[in-house]
Amino acid sequence: MKVLKFGGTSVGSAARMKDVAKLICDGEQKIVVLSAMSGTTNSLVEISDYFYKNNPSGALEKINTLEQKYIDVIEELYSTAEYKTEAKKIIKSHFEYLRSFSKAVFTLFEEKAILSQGELLSTNIFQLYLKETGENSTLLPALEYMRIDKNSEPDTAYIAENLEKQLQLQPGKTLYITQGYICRNFYGEIDNLQRGGSDYTASLIGAAIKAEEIQIWTDIDGMHNNDPRFVEGTQPVPYLHFEEAAELAYFGAKILHPTCILPAKLNNIPVRLLNTMEPKAHGTLISMQSKKGTIQAVAAKDNITAIKIKSGRMLLAYGFLRKVFEIFETYQTSIDMITTSEVGVSVTVDNTKRIDEIVNSLKKLGTVTVDTDMVIICVVGDLPSENVGYQAKAVAALKDIPVRMISYGGSNYNISFLIKATDKQRALKALSHGLFE
Ligand code: ASP
Ligand code: MG
Repeated sequence: MKVLKFGGTSVGSAARMKDVAKLICDGEQKIVVLSAMSGTTNSLVEISDYFYKNNPSGALEKINTLEQKYIDVIEELYSTAEYKTEAKKIIKSHFEYLRSFSKAVFTLFEEKAILSQGELLSTNIFQLYLKETGENSTLLPALEYMRIDKNSEPDTAYIAENLEKQLQLQPGKTLYITQGYICRNFYGEIDNLQRGGSDYTASLIGAAIKAEEIQIWTDIDGMHNNDPRFVEGTQPVPYLHFEEAAELAYFGAKILHPTCILPAKLNNIPVRLLNTMEPKAHGTLISMQSKKGTIQAVAAKDNITAIKIKSGRMLLAYGFLRKVFEIFETYQTSIDMITTSEVGVSVTVDNTKRIDEIVNSLKKLGTVTVDTDMVIICVVGDLPSENVGYQAKAVAALKDIPVRMISYGGSNYNISFLIKATDKQRALKALSHGLFE
């Protein structure tokens, strides 16, 4: 069985939902994961914010606006009065639920319940549409099988067992429609897989049922070899290795959520990135196979802070790096990139919440310099050391750009450069020019 995931824009209007229905109705059995309609989760975040700020009338105003959007969608989506009435009932129940928070104490728990409404709405409306058109479909309630553990990691055994149960409860359906993003936590409360987490849902489902393929449908024809927002003439990359895709997703390629790769990789399930606007296009196939001897793509990760710790006295001594890393561990901040020399070490972080405490502690170990507004440029491809010349090409392409750090050899798939944010576009263009033209 295949798992297909459609993002917020793909279900962002009645017309787009109809397109998705056309795409998935080919008689083949599949599980279809949907995000909330585009803009909905952001609105729900805003609504929660009003509740947090103890301004229920602000929240109610936003709720009414959002509800109207759904009422308009219904008018366009269904053709019969019967189904319009049915859909209105569904919508009403969700929006009444949202309004009910006016009276309650508002905590993270309530917020998560609110955030779950987007995916519940989109899947309910969509499956009702399939019903109207006579498709053999049903809903798979994510809150009955998707679960995270105490450490907020997916509980894969629980997911596999309970997803199977849900499938057994409704055998013989052609289309199983389910919610992305939402789940329950260790305590059984409504929770989520973090923003953009619907890709993760699809991948976890794929892993749980040992799917034949996981398809992530978006608005672009696969992962491009550079960022189309900054560089003209980028091209889709037809094949990527899991590791290459993971690097690209983590280092800035917005098309795929970085968490999505691991469950697929562990179970060796190919992930295909496809375009709803151009369903016949090849897109990108992510699997164990990689294209040998080539640089595949470039991505950039913004808002990076670099920290340099210089200490001639201590670096030669063993245990220095441990002390550095322990400080980052104490302040629960993960390091992205690292370079070392005899007299110093540079690391980068993207989470600066506890940077002051970190810098304070690092000062006990050496002289500390902090550079903000940096960008990691990640060059991805088949780059083991035997493949002579590829890193030279990347470095040569950046010959006019001031580079603060270079990291190569951490994996066989990537070279990372740290540069100033102000040089980002120039660097991306130079790399496209030097590597792909
Ligand atoms: N609706 C959620 C979000 O906007 C999850 C997703 O779209 O993947 O973050
Ligand atoms: Mg997304």
